[in-house]
Amino acid sequence: MSWFKRQAKGIKTALNDQINVPEGQWVKCPGCSQPLNARELGNNLLVCPKCTYHFKMTSQDYFELLFDDRKFRIFDDNLISVDPLDFTDKKAYTTRLKNTRKKTGLSDSARAATGKVGGHSVSMASMDFSFIGGSMGSVVGEVITRAIKRACRKKTPLILITQSGGARMMEGALSLMQMAKTAANLTKLSDKGLPFIVILTNPTTGGVTASFAMLGDVHIAEPGALIGFAGPRIIRETMGQDLPDGFQKSEFVQEHGFIDMIVERKDLRGRLIHLLHLFMEAVPLAD
Ligand SMILES: [Zn+2]
Repeated sequence: MSWFKRQAKGIKTALNDQINVPEGQWVKCPGCSQPLNARELGNNLLVCPKCTYHFKMTSQDYFELLFDDRKFRIFDDNLISVDPLDFTDKKAYTTRLKNTRKKTGLSDSARAATGKVGGHSVSMASMDFSFIGGSMGSVVGEVITRAIKRACRKKTPLILITQSGGARMMEGALSLMQMAKTAANLTKLSDKGLPFIVILTNPTTGGVTASFAMLGDVHIAEPGALIGFAGPRIIRETMGQDLPDGFQKSEFVQEHGFIDMIVERKDLRGRLIHLLHLFMEAVPLAD
C-alpha cells in the first residue's frame, strides 16, 4: 500500500514487533504485512486479527492475562545487575542497564509473582524481551530461582513464561552459570512432585532454551514462536545449506517432539486452568 510507509507520520513498522505505540497509531503486522490499528491490536491481546500473528507481550501483560481477577503480588523487582567484568561494547554495561531500566521501568528481564489461577495458588515468573533482548544474566537466574524456591516452600505449581535472546554476554560466565543454577533448583521442585509448566513465547532461544525453558512437565508454546538454541541464521551459515520451511517455529518444534501443545494467547488461561485442575485435583478435564 503506497500510503503505508514507515517514514509517514503516525505510522510505525513493528520491526521487532515490540508494541509500544500510542493510541491511534498504526503498525505493520510482520505476519501478513497488513496495517493494524494499535488500539485494536491492544484490545485483541496483541494478536493480529487477520493472521493471528502473536506480537510480544510484557510480563505485566501476561500476569494480568493469567492470574484470577488480574490480582497478583510481585516479588524481587528490586534486584539489579552489577557489572563484575567492567564490560563495555558500544556503551558501558552500567550505562546500558541504567538506560534500559529508565526506558522500560523494569529492574531486569524477568519478574516473579504469586497469585491464583483458576483458584490454584501458583508461583509464576515471566521474562521481558524489551530489557536487553530478554537476555539471561545473574538477576534473571536469581528471580527464576527464587520463584522455584517459592513454589517449593508453598507447595504450589510453578509457571514460567519465557522470552529470550539467550545469555547476557555482558556478564560472561556468570550468565552461563544461571543455566546450572536454575536447572539444579528445578530438580528440587521435581523431587517434591510439584508441576512445572512452561509457556514458550517468541523468541525463546539460547541459554534459556538450554536450561529451564525445556525442563517443564508440560511445554506450551504460542503459535509461530521461534524456539531453538542457536538462531536460524547462524545454523544456516554453519551448515551452509537452506533450512526447511518453518524451521524452529512452534509448529515445527512440536512436530519434532520438543513441545506438547500450541495454544493461542486467548486460550492460554483456560488451558492453564485445565492443566492445574488435572495436576492438583486429578479431576477429569472440563470442556
Ligand atoms: Zn497479521
